[in-house]
Amino acid sequence: MGEMTTLDGIVLRERLVGEQDKFIDILTKERGVLELSVKGARKINGRSGSSAQLFAYSRFCMNERKGRLYLNSAEPIHIFYDLRSSLSRISLASYFAEAASFCSPENSQCEDILRLLLNCLHYLEKGTRSEAFLKSLFELRLMSDSGFMPDIVGCHSCGAFEPEVLYFSVRNGIYLCSDCHAAVHEGSPEMPDEQYIKLELPVLLAMRHIVLADFDRLFNFRVSDGVQEKLSAISEDYLRSHLGRDFRTLNFYHSIV
Ligand SMILES: [Zn+2]
Repeated sequence: MGEMTTLDGIVLRERLVGEQDKFIDILTKERGVLELSVKGARKINGRSGSSAQLFAYSRFCMNERKGRLYLNSAEPIHIFYDLRSSLSRISLASYFAEAASFCSPENSQCEDILRLLLNCLHYLEKGTRSEAFLKSLFELRLMSDSGFMPDIVGCHSCGAFEPEVLYFSVRNGIYLCSDCHAAVHEGSPEMPDEQYIKLELPVLLAMRHIVLADFDRLFNFRVSDGVQEKLSAISEDYLRSHLGRDFRTLNFYHSIV
């Protein structure tokens, strides 16, 4: 019969197999992303059926046989139905799912990433925070939770904590205050500096909040439209650069917004 396991998780992906079956990928805090085989998926109705659909957060009861997992039953905890109310919402949610999945290998502890994803989907579903805000927050915090936290507590050279103007390196995840940046680049004033992006203090403060704030306070901040624009560019660049890959769902999201 195999071993029975019960875990809470959210469905990040589903793939239909043949006429009746499907595979689902679920993100769990204890074991990262797991692939479950769902037999007779088209016939399952009611609670178990909706509990195993995309973006359902459910309690999954599964059998483990020969290294494979088979869904036995599922009870819904929260199903993010309202994400489907707009194409941009569901597309952004799909990008969150693809990125979270990529950063959550099987059998790794993923409590922080699961909590981040569930909360971002919650605000996305409610519509109480802008998509741009949630996207930046998700991208930078996901990178921090995945071992790519930028070191932005002070200027990399002199430690200046709140410079009015600063230069951020996406590749290195550090910044220089304008004095240190000028000193470093004194010898070659004509050289275009592609590595550093010039930012103002409010953008740094927003980035710092996203990567360092306690989770309880994470969503408790606001930014102006101007700051959001810079933040959006930086957070996406940062994720792409450090994960070193493209996301199909992100390209699709850009094609519709
Ligand atoms: Zn400095």
